[in-house]
Order: sequence, then C-alpha cells, then structure tokens
Amino acid sequence: MKKKALETRFIADSMLGKLAKWLRLAGVDVEYEKDIDDKELVQRAIWEDRVILTRDRSVTQRKLVKECLLINSEHLSEQIREFKRAFELNTLKNAFTRCILCNNPLEEIPKELLKGKVPPYIWNTHERFKHCNLCKRIYWAGTHRRNAEKLLKELIEEKGLTLKTD
Ligand SMILES: [Zn+2]
Repeated sequence: MKKKALETRFIADSMLGKLAKWLRLAGVDVEYEKDIDDKELVQRAIWEDRVILTRDRSVTQRKLVKECLLINSEHLSEQIREFKRAFELNTLKNAFTRCILCNNPLEEIPKELLKGKVPPYIWNTHERFKHCNLCKRIYWAGTHRRNAEKLLKELIEEKGLTLKTD
C-alpha cells in the first residue's frame, strides 16, 4: 500500500521548487527553502518528521535519513509521475487550501476586509476569498485557474485514476 500524500509531510530539496509548488497546489504539505543545504534539509526532516524529496542521490545515502524519495527527472510532469508512483495522490479535495509560496494553510477572509486590496473587477465578481496570514497573499477562485487545469490534466492522465471532487 502506498502512503497517502495528503497524510504525509514532506520537505523538498533546493532543486525541487517547482514540484513543491505543484504539490502545495494539490494540498500536500511540502516545506521548501531555496537555499537550504543538505545537512539542514536532513535535520529538518528529522525534527519535523518529514519525508525528503531530493534529486541528489548522496542525500538518500546519508545515515540519518529515515524516509526519502529520489526524483530522477528534471521535468516537472515526470517528477509528478515519479512522486505518484511512490505516494497516493488521487483526489483534489484538498486542492487550493495551501499557500503555494509559503506552504501555509489558507484561511477564509471576509470580503469586506478586502475592498481596495483586490482589483475592482475581482471584488465585484467574487464572494469568497482566502488569504495566507504569513505572506498576506489573497486567493480567490480563479487565482490558480490555469495552474489548476494543468494539475487536473496531470492527475487525470495517470492510469486508473478515480477523481473525487467533493
Ligand atoms: Zn503565503
């Protein structure tokens, strides 16, 4: 049985920034810092009980590493496939619940608080907004529309997939 991606915590190495963003888009908890070195990566994985995602074989051979997935491809779509061969990710129920920049869970924010902070067209045509209380980025349905479509395509292309959109 594959571990469920949505019930697992991850930390990605510095070469996997794009993959980290995509997984966050799907709601997966993935820590990522651009300049993290191998030693720090391994330490954080231990302290925070996270599975390491890495493109660096030498990381996988470090003694302290408990659980880790070596990603071979440098292309995002193949990286997603590699990830899904190792972890179960076949639902979109948690998609768009996490800030793609900070990995922080998004919170609903009352529309009245956002007047003047989002473009008037968006304010007039949307009722529900979420925000990240770390970077203050505001999200609304459509923020990630194009990304979402690509993500959906990636997920659907996988053979034998059942999509739950509840
Ligand atoms: Zn954020």
